[in-house]
Amino acid sequence: YLGSALQTRLGIPVTAGAPVDTEAVLGRIDPESADRLNETLMMSPGQEMTMDGKWRHVDGRSVHSRAWMRARQRPDGSVIQEGVVLDITELREVETELRRSEERSRLLAENAWEVIWTMAMDGSITYINPAVERMRGFTPEEAMRQSPEEIQPPESAAIGADYYQRLFAAIEAGTEPPTFRGEQEYYRKDGSIMTGELQVIPHRDATGQVIELIGVTRDISERKAFEAELRNLAVTDTLTGVWNRRQGTELLAADLSTRQAGQVLSLLMLDIDHFKAINDTFGHQAGDHVLIEIASRLRRSLRGNDMVARWGGEEFIVLLRDCALSDARRLAEDIRAAIAEIPFGVLGSLTVSIGAAEIREDEDLTSWLGRADQALYRAKRAGR
Ligand code: GH3
Ligand code: MG
Ligand code: MG
Repeated sequence: YLGSALQTRLGIPVTAGAPVDTEAVLGRIDPESADRLNETLMMSPGQEMTMDGKWRHVDGRSVHSRAWMRARQRPDGSVIQEGVVLDITELREVETELRRSEERSRLLAENAWEVIWTMAMDGSITYINPAVERMRGFTPEEAMRQSPEEIQPPESAAIGADYYQRLFAAIEAGTEPPTFRGEQEYYRKDGSIMTGELQVIPHRDATGQVIELIGVTRDISERKAFEAELRNLAVTDTLTGVWNRRQGTELLAADLSTRQAGQVLSLLMLDIDHFKAINDTFGHQAGDHVLIEIASRLRRSLRGNDMVARWGGEEFIVLLRDCALSDARRLAEDIRAAIAEIPFGVLGSLTVSIGAAEIREDEDLTSWLGRADQALYRAKRAGR
């Protein structure tokens, strides 16, 4: 006996009541499965077997089966094989698709440029891809064994801890578990620090329960370094290395706006005397070197708390914090001497003129700068 499902499963015509065409059925088995089928047909009474087989439908497509078989002796002594055969073609297809999908995920993770990891709800890392070695210098095995303190500086670890707290609070409250996206710092094997952009996604099962966390970290160290370089370029004077005029103005304005009542601030405005003559006599490049040397002498004359910026062609301003006019005068005199008394190589001695002004109560930046400029002008008129 063979059930009528045979017709739908393999396309072999079955007529109710008529004997089954065994040859036709056996002819549809895939050669790989034929031996196994023979084995089941040779079972002795009491034996049981499970058998997966592959068949070819009359229309040409493959059909997969799973059979449970047993041999039983009938009262008349003859042996009968009984079995149930299940069409598992769809199951196989799902399994194959699942395997393919797993393989795809594995390939993606193993070859990704980003660091991809998964973390169990108890905080243990359950997977980390090979990219971690390129990014941090640790093999995946090493990285998986690291404690949080070995992975990140305290500030970044604290941000992570804060996220986990929010996540667990959401789980507790039954609300949407939050994702995380932000910049995080990590230790490299050589002890240096890299910046990564981290994204964390809670992985939920079909019931909505968070079963693990999936994280992706992208190395943005290069971008950060480039940004820092750009920021640096935007605020410094390329020739002399001191702040440029824009940054000098910003720093002055910031000091003015945060100034406490009674706090003294003084400003120096410095201009090189007869600078045009240096350019005219020795060339523009010699002039440039003078500017570099003056900026360097200026910085050496100042305290760490003072601010110097190139204000224009051959003009510099200096902000002296917690410094009254009398002290500013003395310092200006030191600067003047440090420039006038040491010759600039073959160019010989140079002089500068300096104007000084102490901030007045309720004075704005323009007025303050104007008074320093006027003082400079008076110094020039008084003989440089
Ligand atoms: P004074 O004593 O009145 O200040 O005379 P001075 O010649 O120093 O003043 P002036 O303003 O007439 O000339 C400033 C010169 O500085 C003119 C300009 O060509 C030169 N200069 C401006 N920026 C630069 C620079 O970056 N490099 C060089 N080499 N020269 C510069
Ligand atoms: Mg000048
Ligand atoms: Mg000038």
